[in-house]
Amino acid sequence: MMIFVLYAAIVWYAAARWRRTWWAFSAVTAGLLLIIGFILAQGWISQAIGFRLVGVMVNGLLYPFAALLGLVGYYIAVIPRPPGEGAQHPCEHCGYDLVGMEETDRGVCPECGKPFTNRSPSAGGPRPGNA
Ligand SMILES: [Zn+2]
Repeated sequence: MMIFVLYAAIVWYAAARWRRTWWAFSAVTAGLLLIIGFILAQGWISQAIGFRLVGVMVNGLLYPFAALLGLVGYYIAVIPRPPGEGAQHPCEHCGYDLVGMEETDRGVCPECGKPFTNRSPSAGGPRPGNA
């Protein structure tokens, strides 16, 4: 039984870690396909050898487990990321990504309207139109 909890934890962690990216949806889908594959495979093998590999109760629990894994996994995958996470130059007030606006002389965040002071000392890196 512990393996179910561990399996769900791994899939949901991957969904949370890469949420809002295709990796999260791929991880949940892969987790689902693995369970469905296990259900089908143990069914076929049990039928072929005439002996139940997995008990009736465990087998019956696999379907609701797969449903729960998929529903919660896809839900986690669409949870929005906190503002500013992954932004190269986040506004210190709202987290809006100000990348590319460091050189504008207005110095006002277009998202919250507050002035931003940080002229990004690490303003290196590739920037479009700087070639
Ligand atoms: Zn802002």
